[in-house]
Amino acid sequence: PSGAEPATKIVINLERLQQLPAEKVGPLARYAATIQSQRGDYNGKVLSIRTEDLRSLAIIYDMTPGELTEQLIDWGVLPPEARPAKDDA
Ligand code: C2E
Ligand code: C2E
Ligand code: C2E
Repeated sequence: PSGAEPATKIVINLERLQQLPAEKVGPLARYAATIQSQRGDYNGKVLSIRTEDLRSLAIIYDMTPGELTEQLIDWGVLPPEARPAKDDA
């Protein structure tokens, strides 16, 4: 029970992401845009990304994956349901 845990299913809200200032979400927005480009997936309102990508992004943001999950929920980029249930609850 050492605080925030990483999201289990990462589904980014792309419309919300576009509304946020670039100085906050710039690296995440570029990462998401690159994945969209690699997949040829341009028309979605949401984008599912890999758990591994959350780890890479956490390094970029100098947070743990759990802390980044909380930040993304706070920004509205991830839904609150992305917060994993505490298994010791
Ligand atoms: P789901 O994973 O719960 O996704 C629900 C809907 O969110 C999808 O409906 C789609 O409209 C949107 N969505 C989620 N992730 C992305 C994304 O990365 N890009 C885009 N453009 N849209 C996304 P959809 O497409 O009708 O799929 C319905 C369900 O079919 C999905 O529910 C999932 O269970 C399954 N599915 C679709 N594609 C895949 C896939 O590539 N892999 C797996 N394992 N399941 C898939
Ligand atoms: P790749 O990693 O060699 O994956 C090749 C194909 O395997 C993908 O083509 C996709 O059809 C399938 N694939 C691999 N892992 C998964 C997975 O976890 N779920 C699903 N539903 N399919 C998977 P696709 O989508 O055209 O992507 C092409 C390339 O773009 C990928 O080659 C990878 O290099 C990159 N890419 C796409 N999406 C992501 C992502 O979310 N994260 C990262 N790191 N790279 C991605
Ligand atoms: P998903 O397609 O439902 O896949 C769920 C998990 O199954 C993935 O979690 C991964 O652990 C495993 N998996 C699925 N397909 C492959 C594969 O081709 N190779 C390997 N090594 N593992 C696979 P993960 O990685 O956290 O990805 C979460 C979701 O992100 C995927 O759900 C899918 O919606 C999306 N995604 C990830 N990578 C790609 C990709 O390359 N292309 C596309 N189109 N979607 C991807």
